[in-house]
Amino acid sequence: MAVLLDGKVMAAELMEGLKARVEALKNKGVSVGLAVVLVGEDPASQVYVRNKGKACEELGILSETIRLPESTTQEELEALIDRLNHDHRMDGILVQLPLPKHLDEAAVLRKIIPEKDVDGFHIENAGKLFTGQEGVVACTPKGILHMLKTAGVPLSGKDAVVIGRSNIVGKPIAMLLLNENCTVTICHSRTKDLSAHTKRADILVAAVGKAKFVTADMVKEGAAVVDVGINRVDGKVVGDVDFENVAPIAGYISPVPGGVGKMTIGMLMENTVEAAERKAK
Ligand code: NAD
Repeated sequence: MAVLLDGKVMAAELMEGLKARVEALKNKGVSVGLAVVLVGEDPASQVYVRNKGKACEELGILSETIRLPESTTQEELEALIDRLNHDHRMDGILVQLPLPKHLDEAAVLRKIIPEKDVDGFHIENAGKLFTGQEGVVACTPKGILHMLKTAGVPLSGKDAVVIGRSNIVGKPIAMLLLNENCTVTICHSRTKDLSAHTKRADILVAAVGKAKFVTADMVKEGAAVVDVGINRVDGKVVGDVDFENVAPIAGYISPVPGGVGKMTIGMLMENTVEAAERKAK
């Protein structure tokens, strides 16, 4: 039976360490702040934003949630970001995605100054990751790597297969694993014979968005399987991996809920604290 990559336990440990760092900053007279911008009424986004606020509260981070109506214009949103860029109380700015269709997401993300881009989505931070320079790394991939390292999963020289090529999960986790000297394959919706790839994987990351997409016959014995998916089925949240049948053959596996999602929020907090520490210097 696989070792559980327990996001709850790992995130709790991470939060303990961050609490001490926030305290240390406060003792030096430096406050830590995160601004979260939510446009529209998307129900999943409302939950995510609430959870981010709670995590800030737990650490003693000042958090401001700015809720804007669905009808917000590009100019209004960019003017708000401009204001937050200049707000010295705010070390991080997060615009909750997805934005309503009439807004230009890429332009909005570019508007956030890279130092405050705690989501790591600014083109400068994405570029730094791709060129091996230090920058802000996106929270979900950063959380996945933290999980694998904390559990002591061997990475160097191993075959890693990522299913999904999004800018927020698939591509950046592939880059992080490459930087750890894995041999990385990125699979996607047009990949032929997906199983042939996944069955070779020592590390398999599923970021597809389809419930129970990864079945036991697709997994190599002893593999580390990381489930990024968040799918709602009959009111329950399930991942992309058929946990029940994959767990008995995998070496390591992350559950949903209680896996990657917990780490994502933890890493958002870490990126915010790191931004404040840079400011303090
Ligand atoms: P996305 O829709 O942008 O990307 C999905 C990817 O899956 C695409 O690149 C697509 O090519 C690939 N895909 C689709 N069908 C496929 C198939 N049949 N075979 C192989 N590949 C296929 O999604 P995303 O934003 O990367 O998110 C993926 C999942 O992860 C979603 O369920 C999302 O909710 C979840 N997610 C979770 C967290 C977290 O913190 N746990 C964070 C971000 C996203």
